[in-house]
Amino acid sequence: MTQAIKIDNLKYNYDDNDSVFNDFNLEIESGQWVALVGHNGSGKSTLAKLILGLIEATNGTITVFGEPLNIDTVHHVREQIGMVFQNPDNQFVGATVADDVAFGLENKEMASIEMPSVIDKALTIVGMQNFKDREPHMLSGGQKQRVALASVLALQPKIIILDEATAMLDPDGRATIMATLQHLKQQFGAELTLITITHDMDEAVLADRVVVINDGQLVLDGSPSDVFGQYDVMHRNGLELPFVGELAVRLDSKPDGYLDERELIQWLSHLKK
Ligand code: ADP
Repeated sequence: MTQAIKIDNLKYNYDDNDSVFNDFNLEIESGQWVALVGHNGSGKSTLAKLILGLIEATNGTITVFGEPLNIDTVHHVREQIGMVFQNPDNQFVGATVADDVAFGLENKEMASIEMPSVIDKALTIVGMQNFKDREPHMLSGGQKQRVALASVLALQPKIIILDEATAMLDPDGRATIMATLQHLKQQFGAELTLITITHDMDEAVLADRVVVINDGQLVLDGSPSDVFGQYDVMHRNGLELPFVGELAVRLDSKPDGYLDERELIQWLSHLKK
């Protein structure tokens, strides 16, 4: 297996503040879909910025496809990583969907004759090929994020990091992004590594691997069933379980393992809205 990202003995602090990371280690294989979860302020976005080389580790090393991140390699490393952010409206520069996808290609100085087929291909992968001439701001949140994903895909990254990319979407929008990510995984296999930073455990459960961090420390790391099976650790770290997991735990915690209808409704009302 090829290693996509390796983080060794990472230490990071913003200016004079306390360390966000202190001896943090993580390896991610190429082709893996990793959900990075943890409550607010646990260090998820900081980790994404460090991997992108937007901020520099105070100590330790970050290696991307065997290349240690430093001033000489940062440009090349960044070319291999695509980012999708939380707010779909902040990610558009083009007057049409196609222009928007073209923008990154122009920056890469791709010959304009090559662009239409690359744009088509990227939009087709995310199911937005029929929206090429639409104005981005007229699209739904989920459609906008799919265009943002197409703009990233057109640049043929080896790693895509989605930082709370579904947080501002309605349930339909979320579902289409999750379906798109599953489709990407099928289509690209070992060629594409996905890192989804999320609060939503129903999304995290779809990943190959769930990494839970709290205060810059790795608290759980494993398959979704391994991680969500440790519901006591999840709860201690202020995290919920995916809906189905939460339900199972709550049902199980009843002494007789059985709830009548009224009790069930009561339990359900405690669950995530
Ligand atoms: P998460 O993405 O998990 O919500 P962050 O990586 O944004 O967490 O934040 C980790 C810690 O770093 C928090 O204590 C936060 O207050 C702090 N932090 C984040 N960004 C900055 C910044 N630009 N300057 C100073 N402290 C920051």
